Amino acid sequence: MRIIVTGGAGFIGSNFARHVLNTHPDHQVTVLDVLTYAGNLASLEDLQVNPRFRFVHGDVCDAVLVNELASQHDAIVHFAAESHVDRSLSEPGVFVRTNVEGTVVLLEAARRHGIQRYVQVSTDEVYGSLGPTGLFTEATPLAPNSPYSASKASADMMVRSYFETFHMPVMITRCSNNYGPFHFPEKLIPLFITNLLHDEPVPVYGDGLNVRDWLHVADHCQAIDLVLHAGTPGEIYNVGGNNERTNIEITQLVLAKLGKSDSLIKYVQDRPGHDRRYAIDASKIRRELGWQPRYNFDTGIDQTIDWYLSHRDWWLPLREKALDARRAAANQVVIEAQRS
Ligand code: NAD
Repeated sequence: MRIIVTGGAGFIGSNFARHVLNTHPDHQVTVLDVLTYAGNLASLEDLQVNPRFRFVHGDVCDAVLVNELASQHDAIVHFAAESHVDRSLSEPGVFVRTNVEGTVVLLEAARRHGIQRYVQVSTDEVYGSLGPTGLFTEATPLAPNSPYSASKASADMMVRSYFETFHMPVMITRCSNNYGPFHFPEKLIPLFITNLLHDEPVPVYGDGLNVRDWLHVADHCQAIDLVLHAGTPGEIYNVGGNNERTNIEITQLVLAKLGKSDSLIKYVQDRPGHDRRYAIDASKIRRELGWQPRYNFDTGIDQTIDWYLSHRDWWLPLREKALDARRAAANQVVIEAQRS
C-alpha cells in the first residue's frame, strides 16, 4: 500500500509514519506537511534513510500538488490540522482554511484518482462537553464548542458527505487526548514536563478539575492502522483509553514523577468555552476491529517522561523558539501601549 500521511511532521502523524514503516514491510509512506510551527523534520529524522519513506514539503490546500500525489498513491491518512484550541480562539480563520478546506481538497483528489482507503483523523472534541457521567459514543450528536472543534466537526461532515454522495471508502476516527514522544511542548503534558525540568511553574487552567481521557500515541496509531486496513467505509470509530484524569491529577502525577514541589503549580484564568469533561466509549473499535490499548497510563507516562529526559536535543530548540515568540509578543504589547 502506498500511503499519503498528511501532517506527518507533527506529533501523531510522525508516530504513525514510523508505526507503518515498522509494522508493514511492504508499505510506502509519503508525508505531506507544510511545516507550520508544529511541524518538525527532526521528528522524522530516523525515517529519512528508509527507501520506503518520502517527505514532501507542501500544503494540503494546494490542489495541484495534492492531485499529483493522489495519482501516485492508494491511501490517504489525514492528520494535517491546526490542532491547538488556544490558538483557535485568536486565529479561527486559519483553522477553517487548513482543517476544513484542506480536507475538501484531499477528498476531491481522492475521488478523482480512485483512492482506495481514506482515514480522517478527527477528535472526541467534536462531541462537545460531558457532565459528570456518561460517555461519547459514535452516535452522540456533534456539539463542538471551540473554533478548533467546530472546524474538525465541519471536516467530518464533508467526509460523511463523500461517503453518502460518492460512496467513497472513507472512515473517521475520533480519539481522546494523546500523550507520548514527539509531542510539541505547548500541549499540557510535554509543557509541564519541560517546564518542570527547568524548575519553572506549570500553568493549570481554572480549578484544574477539567477531565480528559488520556491515550498513549502508540495505541492511537495502532487504532488508525486497524481502521485503515479493516475499517468499514462510511463508519466512525471512537478511540479512547478509558483513562479519565483531571488536569490537576495529571499535574500532580508529573510533579511527583519528577520529584518537584506542588508550589510550582500556578492556577491561571480558565480558557473561554473550556469543555469540562471528555470520555470515550471505544467499545465499537474493540469489538469490530479487535483493538486493544497496550499501555496503561502509569507505564505510558513513565516512558514519556524518560523520552523527554533523553531527547532534550529535540525539544530544547522548540522551547527556545516558543519563548522568543512570547518575548516578541510581550514587546509588541509594550510598544503599542507606548504609542497610544
Ligand atoms: P500537530 O499540531 O502536532 O501536527 C499537525 C501537523 O500538520 C504539523 O506537522 C503541521 O505542520 C501540519 N500542517 C498544518 N497545516 C498544514 C497544511 N495546511 N498542510 C500540510 N500540513 C499542515 O497535531 P497532532 O496533535 O499530531 O494532531 C494530528 C491530528 O490528530 C489532528 O487532525 C488532530 O485534530 C487529531 N487529534 C489530535 C489529538 C491529540 O491529542 N493531539 C487527539 C485526537 C485527534
